[in-house]
Amino acid sequence: MKNFLSKGSLGLLLAAVLACASSISGAQNAAPAGAQGKTEALWLGQAGFRIKTPQGKMILIDPWITGGPKTPPMYKNDLAAIGPIDLLLVTHAHVDHIGDAPAVAKMNNIKLYGPADMVTPLTTLGILPADLGHRFNKTGRVTPLPGVKVTAVQAEHSSLLVWKNPATDKMESHPAGEPMGYIIELENGFKIWHMGDTGLFSDMKFISEHYKPDLVMIPIGGNFTMAPDDAAFALRTWIKPKMVIPMHYNSNPMTKGTLAEFQAAMQGSNIKIIPMTEGETVQF
Ligand SMILES: [Zn+2]
Repeated sequence: MKNFLSKGSLGLLLAAVLACASSISGAQNAAPAGAQGKTEALWLGQAGFRIKTPQGKMILIDPWITGGPKTPPMYKNDLAAIGPIDLLLVTHAHVDHIGDAPAVAKMNNIKLYGPADMVTPLTTLGILPADLGHRFNKTGRVTPLPGVKVTAVQAEHSSLLVWKNPATDKMESHPAGEPMGYIIELENGFKIWHMGDTGLFSDMKFISEHYKPDLVMIPIGGNFTMAPDDAAFALRTWIKPKMVIPMHYNSNPMTKGTLAEFQAAMQGSNIKIIPMTEGETVQF
């Protein structure tokens, strides 16, 4: 029998094994799987996040998955790959936020939590079964999972439901209430403010002082929301969180704000910026 491994090739093989091992350990450092007691956030692109709570519950927010241009292919081509979801939140009816939410609700047999007057047309039009909709409104608080509290807060934006009526095969626009952001308090008290789509409004200061979010997910793309300079202004002047994840950029040619512009506008601030790429998981 021939030995194909010369001394040299054995050395190369060992080097390859070591390189492989170090890259696996690097990946684990970036996104340890199944870690207990930590919170994990997976960015799906635009405003879409899947958050794993310290108790292992899965929260999905604004899932624009199958239609999102920056959705990682493993999820874009197979909605079920996002895994079992325990809590589904939608901030408003624009397609890049409501996206696959009705499908996820039906797939998991869970309620879609959203602005009251967005959930109503979803159910009256037959897009969502009535028993899978939970209507609430700004300042409303729900406890949809043990130890997890969600409070709806203001977002300065708009909301319209655009839907193809299967009976006529024509597009229809339906009023869909007012958009919201969410303060999500996890089992360990960690608070995330997912701002949804929003422009500047001075009650960002009030919301921060009242709810004290640790981490803010903030739109920076401009055109429909704050641009990087306005987002930085809000964070530095009013919100002052420990950490921020910029979102709602890089998916639409009209939202031209960039991560680099945001980082430049935040220079000198002690707020920790967590820059993410679509499909990346971070832990905190
Ligand atoms: Zn929007």
